[in-house]
Formats: sequence, structure tokens, C-alpha cells
Amino acid sequence: MMNAALGPLDYRVPDGLDVNAGAVVVAPLGPRQVLGIVWEEERLPAERIDDSRLRPFISVCDVPPIRAELRRLIEWCANYYCAPLASVARMVIASSAALRGAATMTEYRLTGGMPERMTAKRELALAALEGEQGSLRELAEMAGVSEGVLRGLVNQGAIEPVEVDCDRPYPQARADFAVPELSPQQSEVADRLVEATASGGFAPFLLDGVTGSGKTETYCEAIASALEHGKQVLVLLPEIALTEAFLRRFEDRFGAAPVQWHSSLKATERRRAWRAIAAGTAQVVVGARSALFLPYARLGLIVVDEAHEISFKQDEGVRYNARDVAVMRARFEQIPVVLASATPALESLAMADSGVYERLVLPSRFGGAQMPDIQLIDLTEDPPERGEWIAPPLRRALFQRLERGEQSLLFLNRRGYAPLTLCRHCGYRFQCPNCTAWMVEHRLTHRLACHHCGHVVPAPRFCPECKEEDSLVACGPGVERIADEVKALWPQARTAIVTSDTLFSPARVADFVKSVEAGDIDIIVGTQLVTKGYHFPNLTLVGVIDADLGLEGGDLRASERTFQQIMQVAGRAGRGQKPGRVFIQTRMPEGEVIKTLIEGDTERFYAVETENRRRANAPPFGRFAAIIISSEDADEAAQVARLIGKSAPLIEGMRVYGPAPAPLSVLRGRHRHRLLIHATRQVDIQAAIREWLGNIVWKSSTRVAVDVDPYSFM
Ligand code: ADP
Ligand code: ZN
Repeated sequence: MMNAALGPLDYRVPDGLDVNAGAVVVAPLGPRQVLGIVWEEERLPAERIDDSRLRPFISVCDVPPIRAELRRLIEWCANYYCAPLASVARMVIASSAALRGAATMTEYRLTGGMPERMTAKRELALAALEGEQGSLRELAEMAGVSEGVLRGLVNQGAIEPVEVDCDRPYPQARADFAVPELSPQQSEVADRLVEATASGGFAPFLLDGVTGSGKTETYCEAIASALEHGKQVLVLLPEIALTEAFLRRFEDRFGAAPVQWHSSLKATERRRAWRAIAAGTAQVVVGARSALFLPYARLGLIVVDEAHEISFKQDEGVRYNARDVAVMRARFEQIPVVLASATPALESLAMADSGVYERLVLPSRFGGAQMPDIQLIDLTEDPPERGEWIAPPLRRALFQRLERGEQSLLFLNRRGYAPLTLCRHCGYRFQCPNCTAWMVEHRLTHRLACHHCGHVVPAPRFCPECKEEDSLVACGPGVERIADEVKALWPQARTAIVTSDTLFSPARVADFVKSVEAGDIDIIVGTQLVTKGYHFPNLTLVGVIDADLGLEGGDLRASERTFQQIMQVAGRAGRGQKPGRVFIQTRMPEGEVIKTLIEGDTERFYAVETENRRRANAPPFGRFAAIIISSEDADEAAQVARLIGKSAPLIEGMRVYGPAPAPLSVLRGRHRHRLLIHATRQVDIQAAIREWLGNIVWKSSTRVAVDVDPYSFM
């Protein structure tokens, strides 16, 4: 049996029970009870304990067994990402509430009746809870009143309890609810996807279509086909913020919302989703990367939207790339998988070029909408005023849009007000006590925050070093500061700041989308969170405040990422009838990335970047892996890192760099060192690392993590 914490453990099957591989069981472990998955004996390491010395496990959970296809995926992930089998298995049975069998719970809703005595709070609650149902705690949160207020309303008969079946079925989506008329180009692509979905079998697609070309519209046809065949579909999105827009699109097309899966689900929702997915009654699941490891009964199609997004890479625990695992899952399930993107990752393009993925192209926007016109602002020639960040040409364009009642978007990938605060008098800089990082000023919340560990302090009034008052200055801009600049220029302009600080829940995203669509926002100032997915027809201007920002630090994918980000944000402009325009502010107008963006020459960008990678033997040509050593004790971390470095194997086609202190040398109070392994495709890099680390011992206070195909080099 596979136990989540310890790896494979042996148990005896209790007398009279018939259990097969895949069963989810409860077993004793010391004084505790733990969950596990029954595994095939022959697929585990050979050491077995004599049957007579084994404890029997306790019970089998009332859920369908984990299918062999998913068990093979778990093994593949553990092997490929050098992770414990049990850590991967744990992601499958993460929702322990789901495993406890059928249940009911009590929820509350308005009766329509009025309380005898009305108070302001009660009135507020009654207005807010129209049509809602949930636990008292959830309703209290929705209405912004205490649970006590609601309990009062229950006593007065204005709110009533209802018994709900935790496993009540989801509304059914209908393939033919609102079938769109596709353009000939779209039809061709859709037909191919539908055909592959209907016939089944492993079929990986790269759906490469410019922003607004109808990628979503076309893959929805494949979803329709899966629905008709009674198959389940998984749609992976890179961010929860994007689910909101997708939910609405989906409901318009299929007449019912899909099932959601992400970290902010309530425990009851999680349970209901898990069980419906395992039972096969959840038809379409839209979720974050963890939805990949759910026990679908009849998966028929996987879609990875915005497949180039680096947030598909998980950087803690099991360090997997959901895009790649999605393809593997499709292979084990023998079904099609669609990677959709307007700016595919170089890795995905290489797979298409070599014929592994089938490439489907949508080269133009739907409905005759034009791609936006992209222009450059050379900040060395046309600089903004000192202490400001919007250069005159962009300022003029913004003013024009305000005059015409059109909307604009300013993009800067930096949360908060300013990335650094320093003392003008003594030079003191505010640094995080737990990380090698500056504290970022957040003026909206009057705090300084570390974006790595979440440490926050109230905004200081004086310098802690020299005690000078009014000596602190903010250095550099974040989105809040850009929004301030806009407000100073046009006090009447209605702005919205869009970052993970402001759009932290699906409800906030929904509010934001509604107010933009209603025309209540003139200028959006946002981070990468607004670069993708949104479709605002009246948005005609995009300004990129600092195109050079992403190129700093120069990691492997810096150019690619900058190109993708700017293409994506540019893709928000001119999606409706009115043409869009994009301004890119840069100090390096001659840079390759900027030049190709201006010329709209995507082909050349990819060609040049591919050649660079080929020459450096970087992915997708060569491979990287990282070993990250961390400990609260600086000496201990350094020692283990040296030990690992000294024992590096000599293998042809593989080089080991380091150990060296990580660029982010202290994170959450842990001192970090890194080794980087660079190898040709021929080397079995995982086997090499497993054997290498398998021969070394270190204290459990030191953590050694392996990152295969790393995205972060910090
Ligand atoms: P992408 O996913 O490639 O960015 P979308 O699928 O979001 O593109 O399409 C862009 C916009 O055009 C959306 O508002 C979508 O509803 C609309 N659209 C695309 N194709 C069609 C179609 N065949 N019929 C009607 N509307 C369409
Ligand atoms: Zn920190």
C-alpha cells in the first residue's frame, strides 16, 4: 500500500475482504490512521516483509479504485521529477473528506419572511443573501455581518436551514446548447479536434492561434464531442483569475457551469467535486494544475489553455510541469490533449516541428478584427518627467482614449507602490528579515511586504537606522504608483489596479470584469494578471510601462517570457470593432525582442531564439536539472552542498555547476545553495541524480530538492 508520508508500506488484507490494486484504504500507522492506495506488489521494490508480521489494514473507502492509468502516471511523475512516489500519490487522495462516504450537511437560505424587528445589519444581510445558500459562516462572509446576526434571523424565521446531499449532482452541460457558427478557418481546426476526440487514442495538438482568433471557441467543439460520447474533459488554466471568464463562456456555450477545482474551494465543494469526478458524473472540470491528478472515471480530452504560462510549473513539493504531465496523462489514458496558446513555448514548438505534436494554426482574429498596431517609445529620447513613468506619447494616447470614452490598459509587472524604500539621509534600505529581498511598499494597505515569504510590517514613519523623520523615499514604480500618476494627470479618470492583491478571489475577478464591461473603468493598471484571457471590446490602447524589466537578470527564458508577455498584453487591445494600438516603453530599442515585437515578426523571434538555445545546448535541445539545498543553519547548508558537489558523478554529456549560494540566498529563513546540472538529451539525468543523491546522507534539518527542467534559477 502507498502511504502519503512514508512511501510504500506493507499491510495484510483483513480476512474476508477482497481488495484489488487501486483501492483506497485506511490503515493503522503507529497510533494513527492513514490513507493509502493499494499498489501492485510487482511494481514496488523487492524487499517484502513476512506476511505473519504484518498488521492488517482497517477498511476500504467507499470510492472507486484509483485506475491503473492514473497509477502509471503517478509512477511516471515520481520517476521523472525525482520525487517520492508517495508525494505524488498524495496529490490524488488530497481531499480526505471525499473519501469518507456519503453525507449530508446543513445549509441556510432566505425564507422570504421578514424578522419582527429590523436592524441595519439585518437589512444588509437580507439584501446581500438574496438567492444565496451556504453554511452560516459562508453567508456571514458574503453579507459582511457576523454569524450572530444570521442566527438572529434564523430564530426570527427569515432564514431557514436546509439539508443538502453533499453529493448532489451537478447541472448537466449540453453539447448543443448554443452552437456557434465557425469561420472556415476555425471549422477546419475544430473538425480535426472533434475527430480526434471522437475516435480516442493519444493525440497531442499544439493549437497555435493569435489572440482573439477563436482558440477557445474551437476547442469547445472538441468538448462538445466528448460530452456527446459521455466522456469527461479537463480544462487546465494557469490562474484561478482566468476561471471566472471561462466559466461564463462555458455556461453560454453549454448551458451549465463546469465543475471547478482549485485551492480556494471550500472543503464541501472539494469533496463534491472529487466524488463526482471519480464517479464520472462531473462532465467538464476546469481547474488549476492540481486538477491533473484527480481520479477521472472516463477522461476523454485534456485542454491546457495558455499553455506557455510558466505558472503551470510548480516550484515546491513535487516540482512538476502541469503542461508536460498533461501530455503524459493523455498518453496513459490514450486520449487527445490540446495545448492552446497565442505564444507557444519554444519547447512545444520544437515538439510540433519534430512531428510529435500536430500543429493547428489560426492565423487571424475572428470577425475581421485587426491585430493591434505596435509602436515603440524610446525612453532615452522621449523620457517622462523625473519621478514619473508615463512618457509623453503614451500620455497623449491615454488622453485621446479618455476623450473618446475608450478604455486603456497600462501594464507593469510589479505589485505594490515601489519595489524599494530607502532612507535619503543615511542610505538604509528596508530588507526582509527572512529573505534576500527588498520589502515592497504597498500604499493601498499602508504596509511594506516581502513578495517571497509574505512578511509584512506597517509602513514606517522614520528610518530605523538614523531615526530621521520624513527621510524615506520610494524607489521605482509598481502598479499603485502608476495609478497615482494617472490620477494626478486626470483626476476624473476611473482607474482599476489589477494584481493578485486586488483580484484575490473569483468573486473579485467577476466584479472587475463586470465593471470594465459596464464601462465603469477608464484605465486599468495591472500586472501579468491582466495580460491574458480577458476580452474587452472597448479597450483600444495598451501601454507597456517597462519592456526591459523582464530582461533583467537574464535567465534562460527571459527573452521568450518578455516576448510572450508583451504579445499577450498587446492582444488585449482592439479585440472589437475599433482598432487597437500598443505602446512599448523601452531603453533598449535595438534589442532583438523589442525589434521583433514592433515588426510583428513572430517567426523571426522564434527562429533567432531557437538558434540561441541550440548553440547553448539549452532546452529544448539540452536539459537542465537543479539541486537545491536549504537549511536554517547557514553552515550546515553550505556543508551539505559541498558534500553533494564533491560526490558529483562523472558522466559523459553531463556537467555539474556549483554548488553556489542561490541568487535568492535566504528564503523564509532558510539558507540556500544550488547546483545546476546541464546534460545532453542522451543522458538519463534522473537516474544519474537518484544514484548520486542515494549515496549521500544528511541531517533531516537540511532539505535537498531536485528540480527537473527548472524554470526558476533563483
Ligand atoms: P482566443 O481564445 O483565441 O483568444 P476566443 O475564442 O476568446 O479567442 O475568441 C475571441 C472573441 O471572438 C470571443 O469573444 C469569441 O466569443 C469571439 N468569437 C470567436 N469565434 C467566434 C465565432 N465563430 N462565432 C462567434 N464569436 C466568435
Ligand atoms: Zn521574505
